[in-house]
Amino acid sequence: MVRLLLFLLAGALAARPDVAPQPVPVTYEAFALRFGILPAFPVSGLVAGADQSRTIDVPVMVWLLKGSNGRRVLIDSGFYRQKFVDRWKVREFRTPAAASEAAGVKPDAVTDVIISHVHWDHVDGVDLFPNATVWIQRDEYRYYTGEAWHARNTHGGVDEEDMQALLKINMQGRVRFVDGDDQEIIPGIRCYTGGKHTWASQYVSVKLTAGTAIFASDNVYLYENLEKHVPIAQTLDAESNLKAQDRIKALASDPRLIVPGHDPAVFTRFPSTGDGQVAIR
Ligand SMILES: [Zn+2]
Ligand SMILES: [Zn+2]
Repeated sequence: MVRLLLFLLAGALAARPDVAPQPVPVTYEAFALRFGILPAFPVSGLVAGADQSRTIDVPVMVWLLKGSNGRRVLIDSGFYRQKFVDRWKVREFRTPAAASEAAGVKPDAVTDVIISHVHWDHVDGVDLFPNATVWIQRDEYRYYTGEAWHARNTHGGVDEEDMQALLKINMQGRVRFVDGDDQEIIPGIRCYTGGKHTWASQYVSVKLTAGTAIFASDNVYLYENLEKHVPIAQTLDAESNLKAQDRIKALASDPRLIVPGHDPAVFTRFPSTGDGQVAIR
């Protein structure tokens, strides 16, 4: 109905030669929301070739976008199933739904969830947001609901239950596929491929008032990957990962606006807006 009215309005404006319809640029407020901490994680599991003895407490996070168009978008959905919380001895855990609610967006008000890749810590929470459209690369979805399971070593970090939850959401008609690189899926939000963290992992650019921010997710685990120009430790193609890092630097308006997937410094580099919550600006 709203679309029809807009269409009619646009038509009426176009019929008047003196008034050209101006597209209103959409911008977003963006937040990183931490929902837990994995204690003493080896840095060598994040940065290729890092000293084996180094460990850090890594945050697990989702990224919330509040659009001037009313969209309430999450990049990634985090995890909540108890088996993961137990297995990884997660500290300061809250569900990603609770983290979103604490940032002012109730789970049923989330309009869109963009899945960067299907590792358990990013997709397990996908069934916490009952009204959201779920955006995922077509190739990522196909591969990890299909042939990734035909061999033993091609679905590391991917959980059966998560893929079943995703299938169920698809059958509810809520999944939308992203077709490859450089796709604007929602006004002001574009998806890019090539990071090769998984089969078809994607990263996301978002128009903020401060400029274009890049939410790299695990295509860049830590700032250290960017600063030392070192691939992530878990990639299907290290060279492709480095190329993606270069592209991410070129796409962001400012290197400051690149947000890595698991760096604790995200929560000190950006201004706090609440417990485990910072504004990306
Ligand atoms: Zn991952
Ligand atoms: Zn991750």
